[in-house]
Amino acid sequence: MLLRLKKGLPQRQLDAVLTEARRLGYECKFLDAGRQLLELDGTPGRPEHRSRFEDLVGVAAVLDAGDARELHQRAPGQNDHVVRAAGAVFGGGAASLIAGPCAVEDTTRLIEIAQRVRAEGATLLRGGAYKPRTSPYSFQGLGRAGLEMLAQVRAEVGIGVVTEVMDPREVEVACEVADMIQIGARSMSCSPLLLEVGQAGKPVLLKRGFGATVREFLLAAEYLLSTGNEDIVLCERGVRGFDSGVTRNLLDVGAVAHLKRATQLPVIVDPSHAAGRADLVRPLARAGIVAGADGLIVEVHPRPAEAHSDGAQAISIDELAQVATDMRALLDLDGRCFATRGLERASV
Ligand code: PEP
Ligand code: MN
Repeated sequence: MLLRLKKGLPQRQLDAVLTEARRLGYECKFLDAGRQLLELDGTPGRPEHRSRFEDLVGVAAVLDAGDARELHQRAPGQNDHVVRAAGAVFGGGAASLIAGPCAVEDTTRLIEIAQRVRAEGATLLRGGAYKPRTSPYSFQGLGRAGLEMLAQVRAEVGIGVVTEVMDPREVEVACEVADMIQIGARSMSCSPLLLEVGQAGKPVLLKRGFGATVREFLLAAEYLLSTGNEDIVLCERGVRGFDSGVTRNLLDVGAVAHLKRATQLPVIVDPSHAAGRADLVRPLARAGIVAGADGLIVEVHPRPAEAHSDGAQAISIDELAQVATDMRALLDLDGRCFATRGLERASV
């Protein structure tokens, strides 16, 4: 492991770093005359050692964590970890389409949407029963009634379901319905929720917080992985930019390309929350796939003007068909495949 110490470190802080390193079994060697680069050797590193050094006031940065590899880090030559949820496959050259309304609104409408997105190749229906809204006065979702609607639609239409949970106490009940649990941008750093969802053992869709660095995003995934659950799909959904008058967020396609290299976990793109504009969903969806994303999650609504939330970014089913066509073509160019096998219908 290689540490960069702060310049002009008081003796007490330097001693604290050296003492801690030796206590953990490392031999310490300075690599430079200014005594800022400290090499630690002699014992196999552990991820918690890295965090321990990052917490010490005298350490400016852990430059190289050595073999203290965190669980989300792709080892040299390591293949993609492939995540399967219902008919969806993410990673290992396969990509999947998730589509549906922002929120679950009513059963008839949800059945119509589910049938149509399934016909376009979506293998998971999205729809929030619990909605994380900025204002407490906005529509908060239908809660458990919404979960029941999702269960009914899942059985009738034969499509898997992904839905968000915000409260650790609701994880168990949501898992009875969902094939995949979403942790939204606003909850990305809520560690009790991450641990509860991780322990539930279902595949997880983890969205990047709009103010989260890539490292913070990966450490949120690390919380999930630390429970022994490896089936995590990362979702880039746009970060805060400086021009929200034009787009709601800034789609970080660079982060998508980076994440595909840095982690074995699949990465998907949400072009809906990124732009906040229906007319930009298609180009951003293309950009995501070209950057290497293993799938897309897209908000659709047959009548966006009537949507209870996020109507401005909802595309029509015809527009989703275009997104699916683009996705097929771009994946094909890349030698990857579009996973479209649905679930068996329980009843029709
Ligand atoms: C959503 O998927 O509807 C949602 C609220 O997304 P995010 O957490 O990315 O804002
Ligand atoms: Mn939404």
